[in-house]
Amino acid sequence: MVELTFYGGVNEIGGTKILLEDQQTRVLLDWGLSFSQMNDYYDEFLNARGFATIDEYIAFGMLPAIKGLYREDHLKHADSNHPLKDNGAGKAADAVIISHAHMDHIGMIPFLRPDIQMMGSEATYSIMSYLEQTMAAGVRDYCNWYPSFRLVPMTRGNGMKRAMRPDLESEKVKREYIVASKGTSHQLGDFEIAAYPVDHSLPGASAYIIKTSAGNVAYTGDLRFHGYDVAATNEYVKALEGTDIKALLCEGTNADESPGLTEQSLESELTQAIDNAKKLVLVYYPQRDASRILTLSKAAKACGRKLLINPKQAFYLDMLKSFSNLHLPNTNDVDILLPKKSWGVWGDPAFEEKIQKQDYTSAYSRVIRDFIFDGRTLLTPDDVAKAQEEYVVTCGFYEINILHDLAPGKNSCYIWSRSEPFDDEGRFELERVKKWLNHFGLGEPLSLHCSGHLSGPETKELIEKAQPEIVVPIHTEQPGKFEAWHSDVRILDKNAVLQL
Ligand SMILES: [Zn+2]
Repeated sequence: MVELTFYGGVNEIGGTKILLEDQQTRVLLDWGLSFSQMNDYYDEFLNARGFATIDEYIAFGMLPAIKGLYREDHLKHADSNHPLKDNGAGKAADAVIISHAHMDHIGMIPFLRPDIQMMGSEATYSIMSYLEQTMAAGVRDYCNWYPSFRLVPMTRGNGMKRAMRPDLESEKVKREYIVASKGTSHQLGDFEIAAYPVDHSLPGASAYIIKTSAGNVAYTGDLRFHGYDVAATNEYVKALEGTDIKALLCEGTNADESPGLTEQSLESELTQAIDNAKKLVLVYYPQRDASRILTLSKAAKACGRKLLINPKQAFYLDMLKSFSNLHLPNTNDVDILLPKKSWGVWGDPAFEEKIQKQDYTSAYSRVIRDFIFDGRTLLTPDDVAKAQEEYVVTCGFYEINILHDLAPGKNSCYIWSRSEPFDDEGRFELERVKKWLNHFGLGEPLSLHCSGHLSGPETKELIEKAQPEIVVPIHTEQPGKFEAWHSDVRILDKNAVLQL
């Protein structure tokens, strides 16, 4: 019998965690973090305690209590007889099939035991590796598992110390990753899995068709028809059309919305907005959305300006540059703006270069520091302040204090190129941004965005073409909308089991 258990991602946007079982094989379809549940219980200065993170998440329903699924170093540290240890029974899942590297799809993977394989695109692996190398805090063992709560001998003197990552390099376990390349079927136990690259607001997104003993299960992940890779999404739809689909697990983030801008029409709107601004243009957009970086770089170029990105983004794009199938900006069309941090002495000849660089010791991880200080051209806020009409500056919420140094002149503008806030956290952030903009005389933010998700009519079209027997709305707060588009829509609650 084939069973699907929905541990997250139903009746909510995010937190996708689905278990698919058939005879001897069990796979997870994404293993994401639920921002809404996280925000229900935690805050910036109230986090899960390191020694009991998995237990706290299970207590709040953010992770299901499944024996043999989680990393035993954490379980053992919390309780040497932890009830979720496998006790010889083996692992609870063979693999996690990853749609893409947004947190709401991969955020809980670091808590899985290291012998559970992963499957996804090559770009998804690179993005997870980027996260592993650059995340400042928290459990971030996406690609490699490092044993936690370990003591190692002191390097100097006697006694033991708590192990840090560099102490554990020889003991780390590389999580096995199956590259799901386009057009190939992968046999994973009882399943035959076919991956299809699709267009989304993050590079490397994949959708799947999984052959089970009860028929084909299709999982859309997150996708859209209005980015640079529409052809890829169309190919997935074509594959759905040509396959008997038993169950379609379909994202419905924007199920209640009409079609908005495409990435291409956004480019012309942005070009116009940038052209209208006589001084500085600042933009807030999802930092890892390479399509948006490309769109902004093209719009800036059309206005005789250059897009400035931050050091983390520059490192990110550099990691992705080897993938020829991605839509990335031309390296000549973007430059790096290095903000002032810490003592704020970068570029000050009164201080030795070594001291100047120390401004960034806690701001960026070592890999990013090595990358940016490797002879790259780094613009300073002063350079930009003096030539405001020459740049479009990436300026997210956590970077907005750079306005003090940029001193935007009259007729500058701030573009909000991301989705409208949908929760209290987001609304509060927007209110704060508005206060900053008001202080610096920038007026209201100008909203110009292209969504990463299907609109309502596009969702309807996908379902009509796929002609599945059953549709399960996922990644949506509007599952009821689907009922107008198909005769057998299963609106499920969290932890519900669907037998096929
Ligand atoms: Zn996504």
